[in-house]
Parts: sequence; C-alpha cells; structure tokens
Amino acid sequence: MIAIYARVSTEEQAAHGASLAAQIAACRERVPEGAEVEEFVDAGVSGMTLDRPALQALRRRVAEGAVHRIIILDPDRLSRRLAHQLLLTEEWERAGVTLEFVNFEWQDTPEGRLFYSLRGAVAEFEREKIRERTRRGWLAKARQGQLVAGMQRYGYAYDPQTKAVREDPETADVVRRIFRWAAEERWSTGRIARQLARDGVPAPRGGHWWRDTVSKILRNPAYMGVAYVHRYDAAHHNRERPQDEWIAVPVPAIVDEDTWLRAREVVYHYRKFWKGRQSLPLLLRRLVVCGRCGRPMSTNVRIEKGATYLYYFCPHRYPRRFGGSEAPPPCTMPWVRAEPVDQEVWATVTRWLRAGPEEWAAIGEAVLADRDDDMASHVEALERDLRRVERARQRLIGMVARDVIGEDEAEPELRRLRAEAAEIEARLAAARRRRPSFADRLQAVLARVDEAIDALPFDERQVVVRELIERVTLDVDDEGPRVTITFRA
Ligand SMILES: [Zn+2]
Repeated sequence: MIAIYARVSTEEQAAHGASLAAQIAACRERVPEGAEVEEFVDAGVSGMTLDRPALQALRRRVAEGAVHRIIILDPDRLSRRLAHQLLLTEEWERAGVTLEFVNFEWQDTPEGRLFYSLRGAVAEFEREKIRERTRRGWLAKARQGQLVAGMQRYGYAYDPQTKAVREDPETADVVRRIFRWAAEERWSTGRIARQLARDGVPAPRGGHWWRDTVSKILRNPAYMGVAYVHRYDAAHHNRERPQDEWIAVPVPAIVDEDTWLRAREVVYHYRKFWKGRQSLPLLLRRLVVCGRCGRPMSTNVRIEKGATYLYYFCPHRYPRRFGGSEAPPPCTMPWVRAEPVDQEVWATVTRWLRAGPEEWAAIGEAVLADRDDDMASHVEALERDLRRVERARQRLIGMVARDVIGEDEAEPELRRLRAEAAEIEARLAAARRRRPSFADRLQAVLARVDEAIDALPFDERQVVVRELIERVTLDVDDEGPRVTITFRA
C-alpha cells in the first residue's frame, strides 16, 4: 500500500493558505494508476510534535508491514524538527519503506541524506520566521498601523497619511530583480550581490551588498506579504523577543508566493554547500598554501553545468572584497580544481609508504637535515648538564665517605643536586620524545594503515596525510597545477 502523508498547521493555513488539498494532489501525481493508496492527514497540527493522530496511525500501519511506500510533499511536512525527521526516516527505512518527497530529490543517496539533514537543520533554524504568530490583541494594534510605523524594511515605505506600508517604487524594483535572479536564473546570493554592486545599486543602509544581505532579502516573508513586527525589543539592545510575542502583519506583496518559494529553494540549495563545506572531503584542508603569495589557500565549491567541483583558491585574489582602499595588489593565483591536487598528493604519499624503510631513511635524512641540528645540540647540552650534576653529587658523596664533611652538612646540597638532576632528566626525556625520527613516524603510520593503503577510508587517509605532510604549496604554470609537498620533520 502507498501512503500519502499531509500536514498543515493552523497558523500556516491562515498565513499563506498552504492547503492540504494541494499537498495531497501533488503527492497523488506520483502514485501509479490503479495502486492502492491511503491518505494520512493532520490538519491544524504543529510540525514540532510527533503527537499527531494521522502520523501515529501511519507509523502503526508501517509497523504492521502494510505500507511499502510513503509520499510526502517535502520534509517540513513530515516534521519541523531535525531530530524527529531523522527518527522517522530511520524507523521507516528499517521497516523497508521507501520514503519519497515530491519537492525533494535523491532521498536514497548519501548526498541526499546529508542534504536532507542539513535541510532539516535549516528548517529548524528558519521555522520561526515562516511561522505565523497571531496574538489577537497585538495583531489588532498592528493592523491599526501603530506598530507598522516602526517598520523600516527594504522595498517598503511607510505612509504616515494612510498609516500603512506601501511599496517604495525604487527599492521594490531591486527586490523584484533579486528574486527573479534567484528564482528564475538560479543565481547564488554571492553572484546576485556582485551583480547589484556592478549595476551601482545602493545597498540597504548605504553599506555593501554582501551575500548575506541578499540572502536575508530572499528569506524574508515580508516580500510575499507577511511581515513580522514586535520582534526585537528596542528597550533591551534589540534583543529578540519570544516568538509568541511576534506579530505577523500583512503587507503588500512584492513578489508572488511561488517566486518566493522558488527563491527560497535556491537559497537552501546554495546554503547546503556553504553549510556542508566544513565536511567536504578535502584531503588537504588547511595544508595548502599559495605558491605566489605564501598565504593559506581557501576552499570553495563551484557549480558548473549542474556538477559540483571543489576548488582551492587564494583569498588574496580578492583583497578589495575584504579590505579598504589601501588593499595591496591582488594575488594572481588562479583557482585550482582540488581533486587532481589531492590525488597527486595521495599518490605521492602511497608511493612513499610502499617504498620501504631504506628509502624512508634516505628521505628522512634529507627532510631532517636542517631542523635536527638544533634539536641534537639541545639534547647534547642537556646531557652535558646531567653529567656535570652527577659528577658534583659523586664528589660530595666521596667527601662524606672520607669524613671530609659531615653527613648533616652534605645533606641539603645533595638534595639540591638530586632535584636538579631530576629536572634535567625530565627535560631531556621531553626533548627526545618531541621528535621521533621521520623513519619512525613512517613506520608507525605504515603499521597503522597495514597493507590496504588503497582501501583506506577517507578520514584515515586524512590522518595519514596530516601525520606526514606539513604543507602543500600550490602554483600553476603552463602545464597546469604544480604541487610541492613539504613533509613534516
Ligand atoms: Zn596568493
């Protein structure tokens, strides 16, 4: 049996008429003709709780083995809490049920699950913004315009005559452009910000067009007709008030709901990459330095013809974006695709690991040549100190033995010498411990990775790389990227 699950909260229904009928119809389109379908519908129930009659009924039916496929409009319908989304997904996956979202793809791939969980996190973070709050008394006041007067939002102007908010023709037009670029052209917020700056459009409050400026506009429900007032408390450092004190006020919509929703999808789409960036599989994260200016290189994602590529780039290529007028000339280093670089470095590392102890010793000597000189002389100095203290102690003991001085007289000095020796020994042990030889380190790594170097999972590769490599210097010449590996000594 195929199950369709639909949910709408009372507030959502009131806010933008997200109707159950539309949800069910969209799900029904996915149902093959003649298939047995059952609808599970929670009307006027919050997505924050699992205690929903239809959801509970559906879970029971799944537990009974009656359901093989569940169709839902999107993950937010299922639950507004990440934890609950994951709980339900796991429960149903275990039961062998296929879970399908109409407005969501790849739910059965690892990327899909990552996207899904991120999306859940975003939804959780954002939910307060799209949640309608209607405290009657406050709302009545707001409708009279008393609170709306304080509302200054990009795209709108307050008309003191009518005590209402109206479109500001100039900025509203910018808002429309931003939404069109996002919803129709699927531009990223960064690209939109750059285009606005290039077009000479003044930014809100006279600042810069940041990615975040654009993102905030695209996620603001005011532009489709629902603004929030009474959200920040001016008397208390603009602290955000509890959600149930916010007041939703209808304002003139600048874009239609469909455009707004499509733009929001695009924001989430890109945000997935920004949020996921920290967990992207970059073998050399924070190890790569720019071969032209020596600064650490950053990583970023580019989407080309629908495919995602990771890149290393020198942040100093864009100094003006971060600095003022006195920014130094930008670095000329081009963006470099990360994958081939990572592959080359990994190939070098595995070649080394397979080379065997003799070659390691040779490599190790070369790597260690400079640095160990210092360390060796430090150790030697400590050893000399220790011998000196030991000689002094023996001399003193000899004097006591020959009754040159009394035991009582010698005791404090002996104690002092013992303490000094112990301290030098500790420092010596630390100095010796600090730097195992390069060959030793390679041995240790090899012992850990065993023979199955190629079968290593990604995070273990990363451990190996980090153990052995201090930095990777990247440059580009006519023949392409040039990689120089500096091994740790
Ligand atoms: Zn550079």
